[in-house]
Amino acid sequence: MAFDKKLESFLEQLLVTPSPAGFEKAGQQVWVDYLKPIADTIETDSYGSAAAHIQVDPSALTVMLESHCDEIGMIVQHVDDSGFVYINKLGGSDPAIARARKVYIHSRDGIVSGVIGHTAIHLQDRGNGKLPKWSDLFIDIGASSREEALGMITVGDPVTLAEQFEYLSDDILCGRALDNRIGGFILAMVMEKLQERRGELQVNVIALNAVQEEVGGFGARMMAYRYEPDIACVTDVTHATDTPGINHKEHGLVKLGQGPVINHGGANHMKVLSHIEKVAKELEISLQHEASGSRTGTDTDSIFYQKRGIPSGLISLPLRYMHSPVEMVSVTDILMLSNLLTEVVAGLDKNQSFSIFD
Ligand SMILES: [Zn+2]
Repeated sequence: MAFDKKLESFLEQLLVTPSPAGFEKAGQQVWVDYLKPIADTIETDSYGSAAAHIQVDPSALTVMLESHCDEIGMIVQHVDDSGFVYINKLGGSDPAIARARKVYIHSRDGIVSGVIGHTAIHLQDRGNGKLPKWSDLFIDIGASSREEALGMITVGDPVTLAEQFEYLSDDILCGRALDNRIGGFILAMVMEKLQERRGELQVNVIALNAVQEEVGGFGARMMAYRYEPDIACVTDVTHATDTPGINHKEHGLVKLGQGPVINHGGANHMKVLSHIEKVAKELEISLQHEASGSRTGTDTDSIFYQKRGIPSGLISLPLRYMHSPVEMVSVTDILMLSNLLTEVVAGLDKNQSFSIFD
């Protein structure tokens, strides 16, 4: 077992509880229930973002750690006369890997199982091998008419792939929605350690698990505006590019199991990055590096420009096969990232300046 019993069962709960963008309530409840005995207080907003607080000194800096709690999915768009259910994507789901998969439709009355239909190889036209559009894909829920189907589900119900997770080795965890349920898991580990070391903390901490990243970074925007923290450290997953067929000249080289990835450029603030790099060096944690020309494609882009500007830094977990049901991460990386974030916060001074002119 990679983590202690309590953490392992929390991780399992996080991963098996669907949390599609815009429909995160059940997933957030798991996170809030775990953080409740750890944090001083927990606040949620009307859309479902949740923030756990450790407040040590109202006059000191506040650092916000952030991850997003939503996962990509699909949404019911239309039901035809034969009872087949047409879908569209929620966030960046990939239609190329959707066919022949078991899915769960999250109806108002509970889960309805179905499969995304895939025409048998014997029956396919030539040209059937081309990539499908979402409007080509349909879910078969075993209903024989529109009426029967609409007795089970409703247009607008969210849909997730039915895959769960599995350890492929002691170190390699593989499954659906690691992007970014694993971020909330890491923040929980960090908050647990920070609360134990509360006596040495000089700054206040907010751990934000934000909704709706996959559809535009909206939850993080709402909460960064609300709290206006002095600095923010965002954690999400990033592409591990160490598998066949990826052009490193175009996408850089990030390896699974080789440590957290610090992002440079765009929304990332130089002094936040240099604080993170200094702490990583002291801890002898090997950092990997990646560059963003403009957008990081994470909640960092939503946070850094709120109010008067919030100095922000993105530290990511390497992940293979992003936005697929076989996303893959390394436990070694998870442990390194949680240690790093803990020490990044513990190493902040009460009045540390993040002005680039100081
Ligand atoms: Zn993500």
